[in-house]
Amino acid sequence: LIMAYDPARRLASMRIGIETGLVGVKMMYDLLDHPITMVETPGAKPLPAGPRKVAFRDVSFNYEGQGEIVLKTLNLEFAAGKTTALVGPSGSGKSTILNLSMRLYDPTEGQVEIDGANIRDVTFASLRENMAFVGQDTFLFAGSVKHNIGLGRDGATDDEIIAAAKAANAHEFISKLPGGYDCDVGENGGNLSGGQRQRLSIARAILRDAPILLLDEATSALDAESEAEIQKALHDLSKGRTTIVIAHRLSSVMRADEILVVKDGEVVERGSPAELLKNENFFKRSYDLQYDM
Ligand code: ADP
Ligand code: MG
Repeated sequence: LIMAYDPARRLASMRIGIETGLVGVKMMYDLLDHPITMVETPGAKPLPAGPRKVAFRDVSFNYEGQGEIVLKTLNLEFAAGKTTALVGPSGSGKSTILNLSMRLYDPTEGQVEIDGANIRDVTFASLRENMAFVGQDTFLFAGSVKHNIGLGRDGATDDEIIAAAKAANAHEFISKLPGGYDCDVGENGGNLSGGQRQRLSIARAILRDAPILLLDEATSALDAESEAEIQKALHDLSKGRTTIVIAHRLSSVMRADEILVVKDGEVVERGSPAELLKNENFFKRSYDLQYDM
């Protein structure tokens, strides 16, 4: 299998699969909206019942073919039902932590566990059912808006799809598209703006209704006005779910139950927002100058 680093290239390789009707492609794609190249472990089992605590046990990681260690012996616990924010400079390893949580890659050392189960031994179907992901880039397939949102959950009804779109602040723009929910999004969503694609991705996550929610700059493509509304929708969605959020807006980070400050693949500081605010170096250590606050 080709390990394509660039998401667009990964998508391109997946599209070939779709067009040729390759078995299993839809399943792989459905897993967290990411085209992936991982293989399910023979004898994999569904996740055990549990509150959906996510833990990193002595996890070290480097991307294949890259010498540099990206994560260094990380031990992390993402409390069940709580929101944990990852902050830190660009390139520090935040997105990589989400990639490993979704099993887009396996750790080089150590393991990622959900409720004590090593996710390497868990079926893709079970991981998919238990997680929703919204990222900076949204992968859409040529096909209708309805189809693209509906990927969130098999068998979703039109009413459920519309309700999710409304919650994601997407219903209004969808209604104005030619054909509305039946409008073709075009090659990789080319008929839509970045912000519109991101709202479809959020609608998909809402529809999935999964106990684990992973948000990586989930509102980065939106203008300030729609961002504020969608922040609220995502905050509501995160309630009672194990949520890991990467966000550059202070407001999102400050609503978290716990903040982990990541630097060079290590957690250098952690605590509640109130605790970290007492440390005058916190923002200096956590944010790039590119972040407007
Ligand atoms: P952050 O999300 O904090 O900005 P990332 O987790 O994206 O950081 O990146 C951590 C490091 O891993 C960076 O040095 C980045 O260049 C590298 N990296 C990220 N994704 C890949 C990839 N798919 N292949 C190779 N290197 C990667
Ligand atoms: Mg990132």
